Amino acid sequence: MTRVIRSRWLTMGPRTEEFERSFGQYHAVEHAVAVSSGTAALHLAYAAVGVTSGAEVVMPSLTFVATANAAVMCGARPVFADIVDVQEPTVDPVQVDALITPRTRAIVAVHYAGYPCRLSELTDIARQRGVALIEDCAHTPGLLSGNRYLGTWGTVGCFSFFSNKNMTTGEGGMAVTDDVSVAERIRRLRSHGMTSGTWKRHHERPQDYDVLEPGWNYRTDEIHSALGLVQLRKLSEANRRRAEITQSYREHLGGLEHVSVPFGASSGTTSGHILPVFTEDGAKRQAIVAALSNAGVQTSHHYPPVHLFKHYREQFGYRQGMLPKTELFATCQITLPLYTSMQDGDVEYVTGAVRDAVQSINRQRRRVG
Ligand SMILES: *Cc1c(COP(=O)(O)O)cnc(C)c1O
Repeated sequence: MTRVIRSRWLTMGPRTEEFERSFGQYHAVEHAVAVSSGTAALHLAYAAVGVTSGAEVVMPSLTFVATANAAVMCGARPVFADIVDVQEPTVDPVQVDALITPRTRAIVAVHYAGYPCRLSELTDIARQRGVALIEDCAHTPGLLSGNRYLGTWGTVGCFSFFSNKNMTTGEGGMAVTDDVSVAERIRRLRSHGMTSGTWKRHHERPQDYDVLEPGWNYRTDEIHSALGLVQLRKLSEANRRRAEITQSYREHLGGLEHVSVPFGASSGTTSGHILPVFTEDGAKRQAIVAALSNAGVQTSHHYPPVHLFKHYREQFGYRQGMLPKTELFATCQITLPLYTSMQDGDVEYVTGAVRDAVQSINRQRRRVG
């Protein structure tokens, strides 16, 4: 960090090139382009595969709104597919296939909570239908699934280094691809659509540049890249610890009534980004959230479904009832605390509070019944 500042070259330069090279090598992918956020990576990925005005992008509604917003910013219509099941809350390939039209340019796979989507089906569909597959890997940096890293199954993989992600640079992101022309287009669009960057011009002596198509300023800088290089070295240990904490949660919550931890069937492959639990209905969710809050345990919610946000309802005509599994999951979902410095005793405390809440729900039901 001090080396970067002393070098007096602060925007993209050698540190950024090293970060891109290291991140690409880690994920065994040809091209990695560092950008200012995960949202920027998604926006550039969509634009680079031809998502333009009037296009459609098929994606889950159970995601952070940025996945959809980035498509809307391209002038496209986000088309939402339901999840496979409340125990496998990633996008359902059967629904994805059914939603593809001649206007579809891309499918988005969001590896929710740190678990891989059904990628072999999704890659087959993308290939057969001639559309791009974009992976939103905000939850899954450094995660191997089968013989490939997540982010390299599809056309482009998009990562986020926001503060609450498995690796962070404060703000930041990365787009990875094995397709050289897509990589070139992402690089160009990252910096105004210009044909050469400032570092290159500085390095290789002043040269004219041209603009082939308008782009954005989605660059990162040397300070963020220096942070990213350090974080990347810590990633595999962080992911290992997160998976271990996840497993501990599964053991402590196993056999409990009314509460389950999704992805039980595929629990071996995870980056353990967040710990979602599924309760049976909204009332139980509320009761457990309140009991945890009283016990000093903060919870959160991943996610309010995108199709039910005001803009999406009004602009695209989406309605409650459209995606029953997604809506049920969102109504019943609670995110429990998970962070790498969490101790085994902390997991016991949180799961003990969940157990107490469930027992008190049962007592009340007996009284009423
Ligand atoms: C965090 C996140 C993003 C956006 O990343 P930013 O770096 O915050 O722009 C996109 N998709 C998902 C699923 C995320 O969790």
